[in-house]
Amino acid sequence: MFKKWHLFTPGPVPVSSRVLLAGAGEIPHHRLPEFSRILAEVREDLRYLFQTERPVFFFASSGTGAMEAAVANLFSPGERVLVVRGGKFGERWGEIAEAYGLRPAYLDVPWGTAVRPEEVEEALIRDPEIRAVLVQAHETSTGVKHPVRELAELSRSREVLLVVDAISALGVYPLPMDEWGLDVVVAGSQKSLALPPGLSFIALSERAWERVERSGSPRYYFDLRREWKAYRKETTAYTPAVSLLLCLRESLKTIRELGLERLFAHYALISRACREGVRAMGLEVFSDPPCEALTVVKLPEDLDGGRLTKLLRQRYGVVLAGGQGRLKGKVVRITHMGYQSPLEVVLALSALAVGLSELGHPVKMEAGVLRALEIIREEGKEVYA
Ligand SMILES: *Cc1c(COP(=O)(O)O)cnc(C)c1O
Repeated sequence: MFKKWHLFTPGPVPVSSRVLLAGAGEIPHHRLPEFSRILAEVREDLRYLFQTERPVFFFASSGTGAMEAAVANLFSPGERVLVVRGGKFGERWGEIAEAYGLRPAYLDVPWGTAVRPEEVEEALIRDPEIRAVLVQAHETSTGVKHPVRELAELSRSREVLLVVDAISALGVYPLPMDEWGLDVVVAGSQKSLALPPGLSFIALSERAWERVERSGSPRYYFDLRREWKAYRKETTAYTPAVSLLLCLRESLKTIRELGLERLFAHYALISRACREGVRAMGLEVFSDPPCEALTVVKLPEDLDGGRLTKLLRQRYGVVLAGGQGRLKGKVVRITHMGYQSPLEVVLALSALAVGLSELGHPVKMEAGVLRALEIIREEGKEVYA
């Protein structure tokens, strides 16, 4: 009874019952006209979310599938791409590129900091063979926000593509695909879209689409040419994840009702409240600059983060995420994505403080919680009016 789970993990995130129940009914057949109407609605709302006139495709896969689709459809073996590598998901771009026989050049940035556009420009000048820049909008492993807008301008001027993994960013902060000139935007369901796991998304600019026709990489399920052919006939190439699409339809409807502006304002507000709360407790935020999807908190040197997350999970049902890769045990990640009310930040912060003091590292809990509440009360008047 008292073991209610509170998910603050960056995937999966809490999903509302309104959205979950939308996928709980009988399964409509995906080749019937009724389903084509649902598809048309979903596709239109996806364009609203991506802020694009271009088609948005989806696959029955986790987000990594759409990352793989980007690489397989855009590039040929032997081609050079620039991979921004400042965390686990930057590393993943590199691994996929290598698996497809590309020759990635790596721009390594210290974990916890963002890439500087000048560094990217230098790398492009040094190696004119580079065809594209692969980057994360939010590097979820470190909580950093990369300067996507600046990178888009730069990529345009140097005639390379900008491929953006926005799996934890789309719908969290403004990322207008057409306006900023992003060539590829990839998203996933169980992160910023507040859905169960199992759907991935990809949209391509016209410039990027030209390469799809020419790519010499092997592809089958993720072949966007087949999806485009099906798209024009108001269907999908293969059986889609029907239940998840019904959830998606409902989730997109709620986003439209709310409006992107308010959604962005909500995330900006709760992420700031969390960061300021963390600092008021006497702790440090790991990421510079921090993203709005999650807050990554540096833990005291002599504390094993695994013990903290385990204690909070077992005793209170509060699930914070630990660090990944080289950050294992050193940070804790609090997610703001998904179906959360503003005051849930306070729950996460107080859980963090209780856990730390339990493990012999007392922090200024009251100061932290008060600071977060102050910010939410002040700025929430407008955002939640
Ligand atoms: C979670 C995540 C991925 C991987 O997504 P899966 O759905 O786990 O395959 C890739 N990139 C970023 C930025 C992520 O947050």
